[in-house]
Amino acid sequence: MASNVVLAEFQATALDAIPKFASTARGAFRTHKTKKLAWRQMQLRRLYWALDDYQPQLLAALKKDLNKSDFEALFTEVDWLKKDCMFMLDNLEKYAKDEKLGAPDVPFTYSFMKFRTRKEPLGTVLIIGPYNFPVQLLLAPLIGAIGAGCTAVIKPSELTPACAMVIKELIETRLDTSAFAVVNGGIPETNALMNEKWDKVFFTGSAAVGTIIAKKAAETLTPVVLELGGKNPAFITKNANLALAAKRLLWGKTLNSGQVCLSQNYVLIHKDLVPTFITFLNQAYKDMFPNGAKASPDLGRIVNQRHFQRLKKMLDDTSGKIVMGGGMDESENFIEPTAVLVNSVDDSMMQEESFGPIFSIYPVNSLDEALNVANLVHRTPLSLFTFGSKAENQRVLNEMTSGGATLNDAYFHASVNTVPFGGVGDSGWGAYRGKASFDSFTHFRTVSETPAWAEKLISVRYMPFDMSQLKL
Ligand code: NAD
Repeated sequence: MASNVVLAEFQATALDAIPKFASTARGAFRTHKTKKLAWRQMQLRRLYWALDDYQPQLLAALKKDLNKSDFEALFTEVDWLKKDCMFMLDNLEKYAKDEKLGAPDVPFTYSFMKFRTRKEPLGTVLIIGPYNFPVQLLLAPLIGAIGAGCTAVIKPSELTPACAMVIKELIETRLDTSAFAVVNGGIPETNALMNEKWDKVFFTGSAAVGTIIAKKAAETLTPVVLELGGKNPAFITKNANLALAAKRLLWGKTLNSGQVCLSQNYVLIHKDLVPTFITFLNQAYKDMFPNGAKASPDLGRIVNQRHFQRLKKMLDDTSGKIVMGGGMDESENFIEPTAVLVNSVDDSMMQEESFGPIFSIYPVNSLDEALNVANLVHRTPLSLFTFGSKAENQRVLNEMTSGGATLNDAYFHASVNTVPFGGVGDSGWGAYRGKASFDSFTHFRTVSETPAWAEKLISVRYMPFDMSQLKL
C-alpha cells in the first residue's frame, strides 16, 4: 500500500525562525478569523482531506519509523484522526454555542439578570508530541485546538523523523499557514518554543520531560495539559476468565510493540493461577504468531537503539524468570513479546516503565496484597486493567486510582476516540478526545447582563449600607 513513496530527509527547523512561527500564529489569532465557526470547519475539512491524500506517505513514514503495519497505521493513526475530524465537525456548533445559566446555578434573587457561559478560544497554543503514535498524538490535540478556535504551533517527535516531515508538509500545504505551523527538532527546538509565550501548552511524553515543560510554563503562568506515562497494573483474580485475560493482555503488549503509554507494566495474579495463566499466554502467543513474532508482518519494532537498549537492560537486570518470549535482535530493534515471572517489587521489571513489549507477572496471595503492591509501585498510574468478578473489579476501582480503567480487557477505555482520556496525579493533568478536546482549548467565560430597569432591585449594594436590607 505504501510502496513507491519517497520520504523527505529530516530537517530541523532553524532555531532563529522559531519566534516568527509563534508570532505569526499569534497575529492570526488577533485577526479574530478563528472565532468564526465557518473558518474552523473549513480547517477541519481540509485536515480530513489532507489525511486522506497523504495516507500513502503517512503509512510509509510509520513503516519506516516504527515498522508499523498498514493495519495499525490506519486503525490507530490515520483513520483515527479522520474520525476525530468528522466527530468535531458533527458536534462543533453544539460545543461552541453559548450556554445559558439559570436555576439552580443562578439563585431566584438574580433571576431578572441574564447569565451565560461563552466558549472562547484560549488563543495561540503549543502542542508537543511523542514518538509512539507520532501522527495521532500530535494531530488529535490539534483537532481540539482547531475546533475551539485556537491557532497553534505543533512539534512532532524527532525520534520519528519520517512522520515529522510528512506532517510538516501536510499541515503547511493544506491548512491556513498563518494560523498553523510545524516546528521540527528535538531538545533545542522545544526549548526555543518554550521561550515563547503561549496560551496553553499541550504536552504528551514522559514524566521527566513533562516536569521540565511544566516548570518552564510556570514561569509565565502558562496552563499546561500533560499526557504522561506510568507503571500500569493488571489485576487477575480467581474469578477471571484466564484464557481471555491472557489473550487480551498479550494484545496490550503487541499493539505498537507495546510502545503504548497505557499498556500494562505488570500483572498481579493469584499465585495458584500462575501456571495456567502462563500456559494460556503462550497459547495466545502461538495463535497470534504461528511462525514466531519476528516473522510476523504485523509486529512493529522498537523505535531506536536507545529504547532497545533500555528494554534489554530491564531484562538483563531482572532476577525473574522468562516464561514467554525473550528473543531479541539488535540489528533490527526487535524485541519479542516477553513475560517475566518476578518475586520482588524491587525488580527492574516492576520499578521501571516498560513502554515496550515486555511485562512482569507478580504472584500474590490475595486481592488485598495485589492492591497493596500496586499502590506501592505507582499510586497514580495512567491506566489499570482488572479481570475478576463484578464485585472484585469494583473493589479494585475503589481502592486504586488511575487515569482511566478497563474491566476485563486491555486498553478499551482509551480505544474509543471520542471518550475523555487523561492521567491523574503524576501520570497527567487534564484530558482530551471528543468534547474534552474542544473543552481543553476553550475558556469558559461567564458573562452576566444587568438590565437598567433592575436598578432598584439591587440598590442594596451601594453605600451607605443598610443592615436591615441584608437578607441571607
Ligand atoms: P519524551 O518525553 O522523551 O518526548 C516527548 C517530546 O518532548 C518530544 O517531542 C521531544 O522532542 C521533547 N523532549 C524530549 N526531551 C526534552 C527535553 N529535555 N526538553 C524539552 N523537550 C524535550 O517522550 P517519548 O519518548 O517521545 O514518549 C514516551 C513517553 O511518553 C512514555 O513515558 C509514555 O508513557 C509517554 N506517553 C504518554 C502518552 C499519554 O497519552 N499519556 C502517550 C504517549 C506516550
